[in-house]
Parts: sequence; structure tokens; C-alpha cells
Amino acid sequence: MVSRVIPVDPFDLVIFGGTGDLARRKILPGLYRRYCSGQMEDNSRIIGAARSEHETAEFRQMIADAIAEFDPKSGSPEQLEGFLERLEYVQVDALGEAGWKELAALMGENRVRAFYFSVAPSLFGALAERLHAHGIADSETRIVVEKPFGKDLASAKALNAALAEHFDESQIYRIDHYLGKETVQNLMAVRFGNMLFEPLWNSQYIDHIQITVAETVGVDGRGEYYDRSGAMRDMVQNHLMQLLCLTAMEPPAKFDPDAVRDEKLKVIRALNAVPLEDVVRGQYLADGKKPGYLEHAGDPDSKTESFIALRVEVSNWRWAGTPFYMRTGKRLRARSSEIAVVFKETPHSIFGEEAGRHRNVLTIRLQPNEGMDLFVTIKEPGPGGMRLVDVPLDMTFAEALGPEAEDVPDAYERLIMDVIRGNQTLFMRGDEVEAAWAWADPLIASWENRGDKPVPYETGSTGPEEALAMMHREGRRWRDIRA
Ligand code: NAP
Repeated sequence: MVSRVIPVDPFDLVIFGGTGDLARRKILPGLYRRYCSGQMEDNSRIIGAARSEHETAEFRQMIADAIAEFDPKSGSPEQLEGFLERLEYVQVDALGEAGWKELAALMGENRVRAFYFSVAPSLFGALAERLHAHGIADSETRIVVEKPFGKDLASAKALNAALAEHFDESQIYRIDHYLGKETVQNLMAVRFGNMLFEPLWNSQYIDHIQITVAETVGVDGRGEYYDRSGAMRDMVQNHLMQLLCLTAMEPPAKFDPDAVRDEKLKVIRALNAVPLEDVVRGQYLADGKKPGYLEHAGDPDSKTESFIALRVEVSNWRWAGTPFYMRTGKRLRARSSEIAVVFKETPHSIFGEEAGRHRNVLTIRLQPNEGMDLFVTIKEPGPGGMRLVDVPLDMTFAEALGPEAEDVPDAYERLIMDVIRGNQTLFMRGDEVEAAWAWADPLIASWENRGDKPVPYETGSTGPEEALAMMHREGRRWRDIRA
């Protein structure tokens, strides 16, 4: 089969924070895989930049070690050597003058220039300013910024304003790696590429929607940082919100950045002010071997949540009456993320009481095993009369599309290639981020003002009992959390 990899234009990608954890674990191994797949032209370069002193040879060795640790299976020794030759290192201080002239001298002409801010958000403004002051950025330059994009509306606005002083919105790529996942894009393909679903995609046919992002890890090692944030700020305001938007949005007129982002923004603006009865916050307990959240946080009185479940309404014509339930947490039973679209029951069972009334469920799995399942009701095979059973129509891409589907780029790889191509569709726009904070802030303030303390939950469970009860009181159930 002809390769589907289309090389991107030659580029210089500068990674500020090129020696940091994210760069070593995700960004550079991801770029390496794109290099191995043939997507990078030979004259493209990746320039690591940070304050510490390193020779380029040392930086190359650091990245070779990172690839050996985080992606030992990709590529051949020759490919690794070829990739490492693309790497340079410059010592640059975001907050000082050191290194900027050297960086400016290194930049090539007639190629895409992109700058990945893989550093603390407090440095974003300083980087933007110095890139501009040293004449390194022009109107074609792209900048990529990492989460967290603010901790509330005021800080998000300040970050947006600091970037806007030197860059146009069309140059700013706010990364949310959930949007780079294959299944998340497939959700749009399924919704807007088929006639089948759209007529049913509303409150008349859909009972409710569940969005789950469950992790097995705790906040080990990041306790102090996490304790200033919590599941609402760290996960719901950004990742789960983006998943909700893609599920709930109206069909955009075309698949282009502003058309898609306009529709997502309308969803965020239609979200209800969530009452505290529709929120459950939790903290994981110690399990004998591992400490609990409060020990990790280093504050026995911490009121920060490591789990949150909430019931949200999208108040518009399409969704009035169909709740969206979101939950995310750490130290849960399995690492599993999915969107489940739960259709209404059939209105009447022609097969009698015993056969029961059934419902279809469309699940979109982000991890593990990215893919989709559509549960349909069929006759249980064999004799014994008309017994009904719900079976999944498995739409796991690897099986349906053959070996090439197994080679799909991971989220970071895809998104970085989109930056080079200049395609912002899968990146958050500034007004989207602000609208999401404008929705989250009053809710956070309401539990902070009341002094609510999260409820405890067992490590390895599906979260607090109270989250189950929240669903039960409406006659619904969470789907199981399974690997
Ligand atoms: P990290 O491991 O602490 O790395 C920070 C990097 O920034 C280092 O390379 C550091 O090198 C450099 N740096 C610090 N101060 C600098 C300055 N004044 N000028 C130039 N470079 C400077 O952090 P990280 O985990 O990679 O995270 C980077 C960003 O990504 C953060 O905003 C984080 O919130 C976000 N993020 C990280 C992850 C993750 O999995 N790690 C996931 C999502 C988002 P020197 O000290 O040598 O300067």
C-alpha cells in the first residue's frame, strides 16, 4: 500500500525547556517517530533551549537516552543517528539576556519557525517578549503553549494578554493533547461523516452522556503542585471540557479551525451553573502499601480533590433534558478514558416483559485500545425463543483498517505536525479557554466558600459512594471502569 505519510515543510522547532520532563518523555520521542515515518524533511531542525549549560553533543546524548527509555522500539540505529543530527542545543534564559543572540543566529531562512514553550506558564510572557525583541519571530512564526493555561479566569486572561502583545491569535497553539487523540477526531468523523447518527444526536433519543477519565496513579511526587490545583482545574476545565464540546457541538459548516472552535465555544457558553448537589469531590485513601492523598499533599487539612464527578447541562435546544455526567480521578480501579453516549430505551417491548427494554450505547474509548463500540440489541443465537442480548459492534481501528492503523501517531506527534502545517483546528482558542474558566470559577468558589471537604474513597475503587448515589437518584448508573 502507498504510504500515507505526507512530509511537512522544512522547519526549525525550538523547544524552550528542551531538557525538561515533558520534552524528554513526550515531545522529542514523538518527533523521533515522525522522523522515522518519513514526515520530517532532512533539513528540518530541532533546537533544545534551556538555562543549563550543555554542549549539543551532550544534549543529543540526553535525547538518545530519553528515546531508549521512553520509546525503545521505534526506529533503527541509523534512523536514531539521523534524527540526533537534526538536534542542536542553545543555552537561553527566558528571564535574562543570555543566549538570545546565539539563538537568533542559529535560525534558518525560508522555513517554518515554531517555538514550543515547554516551561512554566510564568515564563510565557517573557519568552514572547524576547522572541519579539530579538527579531526571531515574524508574522509567520508559531508558538505552542502547554497546560496549565491559567488557574482561573483572571490568570488565563493575563496569559492571553501577554501573548497577544507580540503574537496574533492565528500564531498561538494552545495544546490539549486529548484533542490529538485518534478517537477524538474520529468522534467528529462519525458524527459528521455519517447520516446515521446526526438525526439521533439530541435529547429526543439520547438519555445521557458519560465522560470518564480514570487514572490508577496517585499524585506521588507532585503532591504540592497538585494540591494547588485539583481535579477540576487540572482535568475538567480543559480535557473533559474539550471532550464534552466535541460531543455536544453543532455541526460546523466546515472542518476548519475557526468554524470548529466557534461551535465548541457556543457549547461552553451554554453550560449551566452547576449546583453543589450535582458535584461530588473525593480524596483517595492510603491502601496499606501506598500513602493516601492527604499524605501526598503534605497537608492533613487539604480540601483539594483528587476525584470529581459532576452533572452538567448544556442548555440549548439540542440538549435540554439530556445530562452530561463527567468524572475523573486518581488511584481508581483502572486506567481508562471514554465517552459513552447512552441512548434512550426502546419505548415498548414487542417481545414481552421478559425480553425487557433495551438501549444502544456508543462508546468512544480514548484509552486503552483507542476505538469505538456501538452496542446493539440482537436475538441471542440458538433455540430458546426470542431472548435479546446487547452486543458490541467493535470499531477498533487496528482491526478494521489493517496494520497501517497500528502506526497512527500519538497525540503529541500529530499536534506538533499540525503546528508545522499551520492547522489550528485541534488547538484551543483564547476565548474558549477563558469561557471554560468563566464557567469553572464560580463553581470552585462555591465549594471553597462553603469550606467543603472532599469525601474519602478507596484506592482501586470507582470513586466515592456519593458519586454512585448521584447517578442512582436519577435512575442511572455509571459504566464500569475497566482496563
Ligand atoms: P520541568 O521538567 O521542570 O522542565 C522545565 C524546563 O524549563 C527545563 O528544561 C528547564 O531547564 C527549563 N527552564 C526553567 N527555567 C527556565 C528559564 N528561565 N529559561 C529557559 N528555560 C528554563 O517541567 P516539565 O514537566 O517538562 O513541564 C514543562 C511545562 O509543560 C510546564 O508548563 C508543565 O506544566 C507542562 N506540562 C508538563 C507535563 C508533563 O508530563 N511533564 C504534562 C502537561 C503539561 P533549566 O532549568 O536548565 O533552565
